[in-house]
Amino acid sequence: MNDNTYYTSMLTLYDVCLGERGVMRTECTDARANHRKKRIGIGGNLMFMEGGIFPGYGKSYVNDDYVQAVASAGGVPMILPVTDEEDIVEAQIEAVDGLVISGGWDVDPLLWGEEPHEKLGSTLPVRDTFDRLLIAAARRRGLPILGICRGLQSLNVVLGGTLYQDMSEAEGSFVRHFQGGHPAQATHTVTAEPGSTLHRLLGPSLTVNSFHHMAARRIAPGLRVTARAADGTVEGLEGISEPILAVQWHPEMMHRERSDMKRLFQWLLAPADT
Ligand code: MN
Repeated sequence: MNDNTYYTSMLTLYDVCLGERGVMRTECTDARANHRKKRIGIGGNLMFMEGGIFPGYGKSYVNDDYVQAVASAGGVPMILPVTDEEDIVEAQIEAVDGLVISGGWDVDPLLWGEEPHEKLGSTLPVRDTFDRLLIAAARRRGLPILGICRGLQSLNVVLGGTLYQDMSEAEGSFVRHFQGGHPAQATHTVTAEPGSTLHRLLGPSLTVNSFHHMAARRIAPGLRVTARAADGTVEGLEGISEPILAVQWHPEMMHRERSDMKRLFQWLLAPADT
């Protein structure tokens, strides 16, 4: 193609796309959308300063490992700040192609009808509301959702399941699920259910890190268990007929050393192909 035909074809494309009165036609915006990198929303968190100049002052954030894990899988990370305003969450979800529900505060047991027990940690109602709105909006649009740690717990509760408020309530629990050591260090084993997406992505058994004291108890209708620790603790869930994947560990903290963990984030970009 010489320069002239190149410019002619570009002008034709330009004319076709702009259409009448310079309005971009749908087929052209769709074509453009199909070629851009997928945007992955990372549901944010809130922290409150313990000291410093502004004690009690709130900050919206996610741990940087979520951003790095999504980016290294080939997605465009978008941090979605915590809000309880439904129209804002709807617009946040409109702007992304997939969603990570991140870790954080304990889930409020009143949401599944239990009073708080002695060993419950700190809860944050606005974060619970935010997760519920994010999950609802993403499900309405059929977006793939990856739940991580509290994200798994949030998904189970929002879809109608319950949690152990503390692992000490789980009969037969003997594995240490709140580890010491480096965050990327794998400390306990997990067995994946044959036939699950997790099994396909990560194989039948693996080692994971562990930073949780709550765990899934009654599993929500619409979800199924895909992985367990040696003491039976639920370590993985997935949607029975929806693109939902959830793990109780922190793959974003392990993705640099463990290329298998990256596959969970790649699944978000192409859930049907993985
Ligand atoms: Mn664990």
